Amino acid sequence: MEKPQSKPLGELELIDRIRRGSNRARNPSVALGIGDDCAILRPAAGYEILVTTDFSLEGRHFRRDRHPPESVGHRCLARGLSDLAAMGATPLAAFLSLALPSAMLSRRRGLDWVDRFFAGLHHLGDLHNVPLAGGDTSESPSDLILADIVLIGSAPRGRSLRRSGARPGDALYVTGSLGGAAAELASLFTRRKPNPPVANLADHPHLFPEPRLAVGQTLLRRRIATAAIDVSDGISTDLTHLCQASKLRAEIDQTALPIHPLAKQLTPEQALKAALHGGEDYELLFAAPPAARVPRSVGGVPITRIGTLQRPGSKKPIITLAHPDGTRTAIQPGGWEHFSASRKTVR
Ligand code: ADP
Ligand code: MG
Repeated sequence: MEKPQSKPLGELELIDRIRRGSNRARNPSVALGIGDDCAILRPAAGYEILVTTDFSLEGRHFRRDRHPPESVGHRCLARGLSDLAAMGATPLAAFLSLALPSAMLSRRRGLDWVDRFFAGLHHLGDLHNVPLAGGDTSESPSDLILADIVLIGSAPRGRSLRRSGARPGDALYVTGSLGGAAAELASLFTRRKPNPPVANLADHPHLFPEPRLAVGQTLLRRRIATAAIDVSDGISTDLTHLCQASKLRAEIDQTALPIHPLAKQLTPEQALKAALHGGEDYELLFAAPPAARVPRSVGGVPITRIGTLQRPGSKKPIITLAHPDGTRTAIQPGGWEHFSASRKTVR
């Protein structure tokens, strides 16, 4: 067998750089972070571990000419954190496998991209106490940047919020607002000039989405939600997942949908489409019994009741939208469909 090649200098330098620049976030459950063969995690007694992984692939999830490197790092972590939020978990640590084109491992401009990528990732990690506790680094076999992040979280044993626990009669809620990410994404791609620098992260739902960790943890702690999911693929798709897992159907009230200000700048029809089918809002969609005391907001994030869940009927669509004029239409899943050639994507 061929002897495996030892790591090229660029890779070793990069790992050293990652270690030196690793974030300030500390988590008492991380007994050992970057630097040894493995990290050591020590979850509190009575808690169980939740794990989620997400790809961030150049040309599929981001484009180097449209997304600032800070946004790529932020989104990479945010996607995993949103999955933990949807289960009501508390994040413990992140692990990142990163493949970089050879030019980026040696040239100064390449390292500038990497430093800015990590600045974005660490900024979000610091906000939520999520240390980067390890990973792997390699030269990419192509000219593309490929990242895969693993997020580890914990939750009191047996208490995580699943997609499958909703019951007939439960009310349906969503956090924050919908359609903002799709509206911003469209504007990123129509603008001819390079996109202006980002001043306030909160104004950029696509570039800098905010994972709803505090809401998820509150729903779990106060035993409010019977089921939850994060809106990564669009509410029509993710609500279908929740309905299928819970064996229910949903009715949404169109007038109740909280539309993001960026989506409101579109035509009303486009705004509704962005709210229902636009992906990557990273809001939480959850069910709660009608008598549950659901807060109006958690940590400044509004929570809006948008509909109800009912027993499925053989002829009834999984999702119905009730319009202001009293008519109803069936809503088909129209969000992000993985591996579908026709879907809109960041190319
Ligand atoms: P090994 O060869 O034993 O897998 P490496 O030399 O690849 O170890 O990595 C050394 C240390 O640096 C490990 O603790 C590893 O987790 C960490 N590390 C490597 N790449 C990354 C990365 N992209 N992000 C975070 N930590 C990393
Ligand atoms: Mg080793």
